[in-house]
Amino acid sequence: MNAPTAPILSKGLADLPDAAGATPVMAQFFEAKARQPDALVFFRMGDFYELFFEDAVKAAAALGIAQTFRGTHAGSPIPMAGVPVHAAEAYLAKLIRAGFKVAVCEQMEDPAEARKRGSKSVVRRDLVRVVTPGTLTEDSLLDARGANRLAAVAVRAGQAAVASVELSTGQVEVLLTSVAGLAAALASGVIQPMAGALAEPAASEARLKRLYGVETLDGFGALAGAEIAALGLIAAHLEITQAGRIPALRPPIRAGGADVMAIDPATRGSLEIERSLSGGREGSLLAAIDRTVTAPGARLLAARLARPLLSTEAIEERLDAVDWLLQRRELRGRVRERLKGAGDMARALTRLALGRGGPRDLGGLRDGLLAGDAITGLFAAAPDALQPAPREIASALEAVSAGRSRDLRAFVGELQSGLGPDLPALAREGGFVTSGVSADLDQARALRDDSRRVVAALEARLQAESGVPLKIRHNAVLGYFVETTASKADPLFQPPLSGLFIHRQTLASQVRFTTVELADLDARIAQAAERALAIELAVFEAWREGAVALSEPILAAAEAAARLDVAAGLAEWAEDARAVRPLIDRSLCFEAQGARHPVVEAAVTRAGEAFTPNDCRLDGAGEGGARLTIVTGPNMAGKSTFLPQNALLAILAQAGAFVPARSLRLGVVDRLFSRVGAGDDLARGRSTFMAEMVETAAILTQATPRSFVILDEIGRGTATYDGLAIAWACAEALHDVNRCRALFATHYHELAGLEERMAHVSNLSLTAKEWNGDLVFLHEAIAGPADRSYGVQVAKLAGVPAAVVARAREVLDRLESQGVTHSGLEELPLFASAAPAAFDHAKPSAVEESLRAFDLDGMSPREAMDALYKLKGLL
Ligand code: ADP
Ligand code: MG
Repeated sequence: MNAPTAPILSKGLADLPDAAGATPVMAQFFEAKARQPDALVFFRMGDFYELFFEDAVKAAAALGIAQTFRGTHAGSPIPMAGVPVHAAEAYLAKLIRAGFKVAVCEQMEDPAEARKRGSKSVVRRDLVRVVTPGTLTEDSLLDARGANRLAAVAVRAGQAAVASVELSTGQVEVLLTSVAGLAAALASGVIQPMAGALAEPAASEARLKRLYGVETLDGFGALAGAEIAALGLIAAHLEITQAGRIPALRPPIRAGGADVMAIDPATRGSLEIERSLSGGREGSLLAAIDRTVTAPGARLLAARLARPLLSTEAIEERLDAVDWLLQRRELRGRVRERLKGAGDMARALTRLALGRGGPRDLGGLRDGLLAGDAITGLFAAAPDALQPAPREIASALEAVSAGRSRDLRAFVGELQSGLGPDLPALAREGGFVTSGVSADLDQARALRDDSRRVVAALEARLQAESGVPLKIRHNAVLGYFVETTASKADPLFQPPLSGLFIHRQTLASQVRFTTVELADLDARIAQAAERALAIELAVFEAWREGAVALSEPILAAAEAAARLDVAAGLAEWAEDARAVRPLIDRSLCFEAQGARHPVVEAAVTRAGEAFTPNDCRLDGAGEGGARLTIVTGPNMAGKSTFLPQNALLAILAQAGAFVPARSLRLGVVDRLFSRVGAGDDLARGRSTFMAEMVETAAILTQATPRSFVILDEIGRGTATYDGLAIAWACAEALHDVNRCRALFATHYHELAGLEERMAHVSNLSLTAKEWNGDLVFLHEAIAGPADRSYGVQVAKLAGVPAAVVARAREVLDRLESQGVTHSGLEELPLFASAAPAAFDHAKPSAVEESLRAFDLDGMSPREAMDALYKLKGLL
């Protein structure tokens, strides 16, 4: 962040002893640690990543692994903990989740190479990357169906910018906003302060040019100073954490506050769009409608729900695609089947570009690009292929088809014939290049395999010649050797066989030998294998470079496949959920008929019950209905389902999805607000109520006539009159000042009176019926206020003892017969605001004034009579 915070590089060293007098290896560790003092250093030693000193203590505690000691430094044992390299990813994931940063210090050469420099030489090591939550690219560390963003914030010249990158797919975004708008723009995440100097204008610009490899930033549109600073911070973070490797990033896209529906974090949370209130994906709108078959498709759908559009044209394009695929069930099924094999090209490409990819990632690109071709073919072969497809589909097909570009075509062809079927994750495992790619490789392999055959033949020959039962084996230390059981080994030590067999090793029950011929074969095989691997690595590198050079069309194909997946998935859901195409225009209407809540409906249906569809009619222009609807009804009647149900329809429609309703007409919504009143939670009461008021204040200052607001029992977290007063005032303000479309659920039945006092208010209630003293919820929304709250019946349903329920009924009857319930409230000054001045007690009336002036003792009966007539006249 562009705040004047001290650079983090200065802290952390305090825990470390002085490096003086360290062994050569530990000196390397100290050097790495000094470069990344606030990260845990994973120090590669053979098959382990070791951690030392404080790092070891912290990691051992966080990972639940043993902490030991290794050697001494400055007279004390060095604390050490280690994780095996092959399992490192899982440990890395755990540490990142626990909030640590990890710097990976690798061995940069073979121990053999180091030995060539002298027997005392230490293997060269270097930091190759710093792992933070925003810079993950490994599939095992990422949520395949969720995005993983790294964001930077900078403030310059009174403007604020938030730049973010989804490193694993290379998508970059920048959002320009006001300083005040920052809070809404930022979702929660891990925050790390960065040195202010990193955001300095010239440095940011230079870094950004370096990141994109461009001479000028003009190609990105006119970026504001704050935007360049924020993007520059991202570039700086990547330079530091990726140790100079440059990921394949797409040009920054302006996340215009202007072209998407604004949904603040509180609203996102309460509507459970991407996550349910319990934090998981399960139970969210996204989970309910997601029928995508690829991880990139799932991520794109989440992104679309997170930012519904404002442009009716853009929304219609998406709806056209869904509609078209909804009508083509068979084609849709085939396309979805084929998409399943498309993999995650964007993430594979990023790993390749960062030098962390392997043959399996190349295989992913091959499969994805081939799937793209196959899908294009499916569309071309569809029965009505000659009819033009909607624009969204046509453009996706164009990008997804690798055949469009000759280079891409050639690249896929090369991978198709050159990559074997079983692909290792890492290139140095070898064996992934098929024969026919390189004559040298084929020759080296033939030599290796021939020699292996010769070895097999040699075993039989040596056994026949010596008459001793023996086997030829291989291990990493000795290479090939002859092995026999100790009890049979004697003849091999005696002439003439001792002239042929050279002793190498004696174990408890085995003795190992070699022969001149075997040693020679061993060297030939090792050489050939080494040569074959070197050629494979060179071939891999060429392919890797080829992929990176083609990153633009590959990423475009990946994105297009995701778009097709989303369109087909939404069509699939529309069919399952009997959803319809919404009618979207620039009016201020909201007219839903027979609408359902996608998440609650699923839950109710699972429980074997039927969901009751409901209508909702609002009109900001005040013609087709009220703009503010007060929703009442007993507890459990369905108020808290009805409100979000309508908000979700707006989100779905503007995200380009069909809606679960019989019909929906929607005038585009610019901002959506949802607030749910705090419960009567005694422990948190005050603070939640305070938070609720802060959030409500935000709505009253931001909602426009184009906005849509739902307020569920606002004010319930405080004493009755306070709560009622606040609810009343908020409803008035929404109606008179914000003039937005709004649904306002409340248990204060007094609010039903607003309908008579204001022009554009209506009442709606969710119904329940009493049946033989029990309460039956119909969940039906009907015009007009609820007649009563049925609190006593709800208490009975909740299992309150019968005697208490009976007594409550008695008290209620008494109260109602005495008219004590609502009527008293009308006399409160609060509700007199719209009433005539008669309630205004501050200034005495004319009648009062003349009464006060009368001198009753000095009046004659006649004068008294006149005064009475005058008073009557004044009235
Ligand atoms: P309220 O806010 O009025 O107390 P809720 O919206 O929380 O009521 O609804 C209570 C329960 O009633 C829900 O959990 C759901 O199971 C059921 N419900 C709500 N609306 C409907 C509906 N339209 N059709 C069927 N069941 C519903
Ligand atoms: Mg409720």
